[in-house]
Amino acid sequence: MSETRIGVVGAGILGLAVARRLAELRPDATVTVLEKEHDLALHQTGRNSGVVHAGIYYAPGSLKAKLCRRGVELLRPYVEEHGIPYEECGKLVVALDEGELERLRELERRAAANGVPGMRWLERDELREVEPHALGIAGLHSPTTAITDYRAVARAFAADIEAAGGAIVFGAKVDAIRATGSTARVGTGGEEREFDRLVVCAGLHSDRLARTAGDEREPTIVPFRGEYYRLAPGRDSLVRGLLYPVPDPAYPFLGVHFTRRVGGGVDVGPNAVLALAREGYRRRDVNLADLAETLRSAGFRALARKHWRMGARELRGSLSKRAFAAEARRYVAEVTAADLVPAPAGVRAQALDPDGSLVDDFRINRLGPVTAVRNAPSPGATSSMAIAEYVVDGVLDE
Ligand SMILES: Cc1cc2nc3c(=O)[nH]c(=O)nc-3n(C[C@H](O)[C@H](O)[C@H](O)COP(=O)(O)OP(=O)(O)OC[C@H]3O[C@@H](n4cnc5c(N)ncnc54)[C@H](O)[C@@H]3O)c2cc1C
Repeated sequence: MSETRIGVVGAGILGLAVARRLAELRPDATVTVLEKEHDLALHQTGRNSGVVHAGIYYAPGSLKAKLCRRGVELLRPYVEEHGIPYEECGKLVVALDEGELERLRELERRAAANGVPGMRWLERDELREVEPHALGIAGLHSPTTAITDYRAVARAFAADIEAAGGAIVFGAKVDAIRATGSTARVGTGGEEREFDRLVVCAGLHSDRLARTAGDEREPTIVPFRGEYYRLAPGRDSLVRGLLYPVPDPAYPFLGVHFTRRVGGGVDVGPNAVLALAREGYRRRDVNLADLAETLRSAGFRALARKHWRMGARELRGSLSKRAFAAEARRYVAEVTAADLVPAPAGVRAQALDPDGSLVDDFRINRLGPVTAVRNAPSPGATSSMAIAEYVVDGVLDE
């Protein structure tokens, strides 16, 4: 019997988690990861907040709710076994005023429905026992929310792939995928490779690659740069763990967060501003083709029409450290602009439907031999091993 050839596009945490599971479950198959960069985890995986989410926010029954909880169950023992830091520093979500209480109660209901352990509702005085400097009138505390180092997790996955006989090919930029009935032909520069099964985990480029394979046009990826500051040395004692706002359902990833990092220090942010290039980590990074594609997309135009005021507010926070500090002070009164030092930015691959709505849940499409991950925002890193289970069971089901 000839070997099954399985290809995976992307050496971020998802591509590596999928390839690891395939290499370990299918010793009879050859597993090859194709990555355009010269190292792994250079994009979302290596530039995220490092939080192992507990599953508080997600609509019960959604893929996010299920795969986040399952992801924690798989990730925790894996990182502990591999000596990767995992700190259960806990997360406190605070309501600043009466208007946010009902949404905080809704989070409490969701967390219960999703089976998040140890959740506690805290009144004003109780929340200061958890975060002595936090403002707010009530809080929801998740003691098991943790932090880790996702780049180190990705490296451990890569080592497992190689130990199981799989290969990671760097500098292999996939420019076209042709699904031809039972196989997928993949172009990298002038070369063509053929696979019996292909899984596309291309993050910020996932829509483009899926389209070349014949998948539907929408959703389009719109890149949002998230800029962070870090609390200056000596000021990071202002926050013990993770301090988050009650998310606005219309803009779930907005609102300044305080996030403790495993290497020490506390990040403040991110905000979200349109990135002028899909991998545009600096304000001056512009890619005209990427920008033209964003501005032409129905999803972005609808989003901009509906939410330009919020966009302008985020841009103000991007351009002015004082505005950013003022936002942070709504949660911790002592923070001043002098306490904030710039930290590296990340870019989110945000999938948008043509009506401008953010695609909330994970979206994974199957087209013959090709499986394409079309939307995997946060908690994608937390859920990586569970997404791999979900995808691989589908890929191997015939
Ligand atoms: C600012 C920010 C904060 C976040 N915080 C958290 C958090 O705290 N917790 C959490 O669970 N999740 C978080 N996330 C989400 C999480 O980082 C992502 O869900 C996860 O990293 C997605 O992994 P990925 O492998 O799909 O994408 P990526 O890490 O972006 O990897 C995609 C890979 O595909 C490669 N690629 C793209 N196109 C091609 C091509 N044509 N040919 C070959 N290779 C290609 C890229 O070079 C890249 O290496 C955050 C994300 C961001 C941006």
